[in-house]
This record gives sequence, structure tokens and C-alpha cells, in this order.
Amino acid sequence: MRSHGSLSELIFPVRCLGCRRLGIDICATCRIDWNNHIYRTFGVSQNRSFPIYSSVIYSPIASKILLASKEDGVLAADTLVAASIANARIYFQKEIGTGHLVPIPSRKKASRRRGRMYINELIEYSGMTPLDLLSHRRAVRDQSTLHADQRAKNLSGAFGIDPTKLLLHDVPVIIVDDLVTTGSTLNEAARALNAAGFRVLGAITACLAKPVR
Ligand SMILES: [Zn+2]
Repeated sequence: MRSHGSLSELIFPVRCLGCRRLGIDICATCRIDWNNHIYRTFGVSQNRSFPIYSSVIYSPIASKILLASKEDGVLAADTLVAASIANARIYFQKEIGTGHLVPIPSRKKASRRRGRMYINELIEYSGMTPLDLLSHRRAVRDQSTLHADQRAKNLSGAFGIDPTKLLLHDVPVIIVDDLVTTGSTLNEAARALNAAGFRVLGAITACLAKPVR
């Protein structure tokens, strides 16, 4: 039973991020869809596979939570996504190893619109420090409407490494993103990092849209 509602709750009633039901940030029904577990898939770079660990299976509810976090900066949604990244990292660390967390950069236009570097902030929000190695070398299209082969083409050679960080050669790294779908983004990031001499242990994401292969 709820006894006292805070003043802000009276003015801005709390609704579920998944279904908009009044009451709490995420209701018990939507919690079933956004429930941290661990899913292990693989990406490929330079003909070698690397592990990808994800916490939540992508669903219509998960899509709403990711959008609320990514596009609207809703704090309660950031909390859920950051916790899912942290969960994937715990399993990854236990089973694969420890490395510096390298965020997948958002497209420059998107970062400007959002007023923040999304994955960097989520990593920091989980109490960890991102190692900003990757940047977009050229404009890429929004991936969401592209097929797997189009995505690979869209991203081929898209990432560059910050030249001031190349001295960090042979450092173990783990790539971080919010969602893995076809794996093309993670594969391209791994390729760029491997080519620059970094040791890519694998990747972690909050959500997994479908098996990479
Ligand atoms: Zn709900």
C-alpha cells in the first residue's frame, strides 16, 4: 500500500516505461520482458569470432525502454539500460576477462541532437570509465531500416581510432553498445580496433535483437 505520494509525483505522475501504466517506472508485467539474464552470441573480426554478452532480449517493451533512454534521456530508462550493461559486464568478466570498455560512438548528428554521448554516459552511469577509442571517419546512414548486407556495407571502414590513443597498443578492450542486431556495428568496431593493434576480448550490450549468426 502506498501511503504518501511525493509532490512531484502528483504533478508528474510516474508511468511505466513499457506500457504507460500509472504507478512505477516499470510494472511487474513489463519487468518480465526487461529482465536481466545472460545471452552469449558471437561476432566476427578478421576471420576470428569474438564473444558478445547481452542481458535482455529485444522486444516491443525493450524497444520503448531503449528509446526513452536514448532519445528522451529519461533517467529511469537510463538506469535500466545501464544496469543491463553492468550485468553483461559482470558475466563477461567472470567468463572471458577484464578489459577497458570502448563505447560505440553514436552518429555525430545524433549526439548533437541528444546533447550527450549516449554509450559513454551509460558506462559512466554504471560507475565505470569509458575508453574513447572509436570515432566515425565518415557519415553513415541510420541502421534501423537496413538489411544485414546493407548494414555491413554502410559501416565498412566507418570507424577510425583516435590517433592520440594509438600508443595504448595491445591493451585488452571490450566493446560496448546498447543493442546488437546483425552484429555489423560490433564487427566493424572490432575490425578497426584489431587493425590498430588492440586486443578485442569481445563485446557487451544491454539488448540482443536476435542471434548474430
Ligand atoms: Zn508496464
